[in-house]
Amino acid sequence: MNILVTGGAGYIGSHTCVALLEAGHSVIIADNLCNSKRETVEKIIDITNKEVTFYETDVTDEQAVSVIFNNNKIDGVIHFAGLKAVGESVDLPLTYYYNNIVSTMILTKACKKYGVNRFVFSSSATVYGENKVPFVESMGLLPTTNPYGETKAISERILTDIAKANPEFSVALLRYFNPVGAHESGLIGEVPNGIPNNLMPYVTQVAKGKLEKLRIFGNDYPTLDGTGVRDYIHVLDLAEGHVAALDNLKEGARVYNLGTGQGTSVLELLKAFEEANGIEVPYEIVERRPGDISSCYADALKAKIELGWEAKRDIIAMCRDAWGFEKNYKDFVEAK
Ligand code: NAD
Ligand code: UDP
Repeated sequence: MNILVTGGAGYIGSHTCVALLEAGHSVIIADNLCNSKRETVEKIIDITNKEVTFYETDVTDEQAVSVIFNNNKIDGVIHFAGLKAVGESVDLPLTYYYNNIVSTMILTKACKKYGVNRFVFSSSATVYGENKVPFVESMGLLPTTNPYGETKAISERILTDIAKANPEFSVALLRYFNPVGAHESGLIGEVPNGIPNNLMPYVTQVAKGKLEKLRIFGNDYPTLDGTGVRDYIHVLDLAEGHVAALDNLKEGARVYNLGTGQGTSVLELLKAFEEANGIEVPYEIVERRPGDISSCYADALKAKIELGWEAKRDIIAMCRDAWGFEKNYKDFVEAK
């Protein structure tokens, strides 16, 4: 199939392009490069030795999106393009609502016009809010604590309604847990803007000596060691989950968790990182981070049964590959 991948130069998008190309699909990337670099497209080509069509396009620009649909025979869309910084979304709500929701509306409008009936959407486990773990797809969505999370919940509702009104339109709403790691080549991976908010990139930057020590946000949660628990998933497993979702689209909008089903605490992740890479990571315990929940992990059964997909890579592989990219990433120090 010819797949339009919006946000394909980004972290998850680039790994998914590799997985799509390796599975025999063709890829057309539309990315405005607001949080990624053109070189990533070259790296996707280097890794796979396959061609990629690239449009430097903002997918909130309806006319520019029409050009892509006009010039290519598109069989399906995977929509990654979005802004994702939770804290920034609190300061810039309109920017977030506009970018993340209007893009979904413009793309689905183009799908309707051009008869494209396969759509895969990047959602997030954040839409579960403070439900009880493990999070199951049948749970109701709870309010999230920030505009970013709301853009995901609203986009899910829009896509569900569109699929209800048009039975030929098939949508997979993929709720990601905590993607980490990188392609084992070390060529593509996560490049956070400024000081990382997320745990794994923070840890890799401490390991590199760019940051002094990790600050662990709270050790008084009701978890095994008091630190927060998350369901970390290797980005390559996540990427393969998209290929499985695309290959198994059914009528209507269907929700799938993409997680491992395993919770890992901050201290457990640190230990795994040290074991995988033989590097000690200094840390201190500080106050809880406002807005954090204690535990977040998936019930991963539905994706296994309906998509025939499950995560295969363990936490050691995640830590090894995250570090493999970080230490390879030569522009890093110069670029910041
Ligand atoms: P990323 O920032 O690395 O990738 C997003 C890409 O979209 C970037 O290349 C950016 O330049 C592009 N983009 C943003 N707005 C655009 C627009 N209007 N037009 C064209 N391109 C645009 O982020 P990521 O981590 O790869 O996340 C991909 C998707 O998955 C996002 O929608 C994000 O909200 C979602 N998600 C990410 C996580 C995570 O932890 N990384 C978790 C859950 C959901
Ligand atoms: N965390 C931490 N120090 C950091 C970043 C994160 O202790 O510098 C903790 C955070 O409190 C949470 C876990 O690591 O328990 C995962 O945080 P991340 O921001 O990566 O993911 P999210 O909380 O969005 O699921």
